[in-house]
Amino acid sequence: MRVGFATEAAPGRDNEDYAAATPDIAVLLDGAGTPPGSESGCTHGVAWYSRTLGSTLVASMTQSAESLTDTLADGIKTVASLHDSTCDLAHPGTPSATVIMLRCTSDALDWLVLADSTLVLDIGEPEPMVITDDREAHVGARYRATVDALDSGSPEHIAAHRAYVEGMRHHRNRDGGFWVAAIDPLAAEQALAGTIPTSRVRAAALLSDGATRLIDRFELATWQQAINILDRQGPSGLIHEVRKAEQSDPNGSRWPRGKTFDDATALYCRF
Ligand SMILES: [Zn+2]
Repeated sequence: MRVGFATEAAPGRDNEDYAAATPDIAVLLDGAGTPPGSESGCTHGVAWYSRTLGSTLVASMTQSAESLTDTLADGIKTVASLHDSTCDLAHPGTPSATVIMLRCTSDALDWLVLADSTLVLDIGEPEPMVITDDREAHVGARYRATVDALDSGSPEHIAAHRAYVEGMRHHRNRDGGFWVAAIDPLAAEQALAGTIPTSRVRAAALLSDGATRLIDRFELATWQQAINILDRQGPSGLIHEVRKAEQSDPNGSRWPRGKTFDDATALYCRF
């Protein structure tokens, strides 16, 4: 597997996305932000959480052949143990992250997707296989209207977005809500996971929602066109297209969104 990746923070903020790869594995996490003025009970922060869980997963996937689901459950437990004596892990705002894991063996590709980052598999058919867990979007749709009606970046918008994020916390890691990596290892069992023969896959893209907004929110490209951009211009080319679109709509009047700019990460694997 040949992997290239790029990751870019939203301007002026810490990058809460995390990406890592070896010739056999690729990992992407997107930390769920704590909006300014919001409490989390954790002194480490969201960027620390996604970086620490991500590097823990890379180490385990490199050293062991256990299932990706079990590896993720163990990783969530390990990272919780690193800060349960210093932080209030029962706080509803405790840091969390989406997770994509990909492992390539000689004949099979194992994958896992938890929460709203997207895995795109180019299997040589007219439409690529697009795997994402859209439970958060479904729950969020009930609350989005207030945020979307306001100008991006205005004080009212920032306050409404904070209220949205804090409201969503009550649906996190609960039946009927949505599941992310945080402190409960049972979240791993809620991930989408599968295996596909490596020979069927031409390429795979791991994308955070800051990168997929070009396709699923702005509708400026199809999934296949996104693969073509990754093929020709690489992951940084795709992120460049995202930033161009965001800059063209700074107030969110064309594309209402919680964050004017978001951390954007893309990994592109060829087989
Ligand atoms: Zn902490």
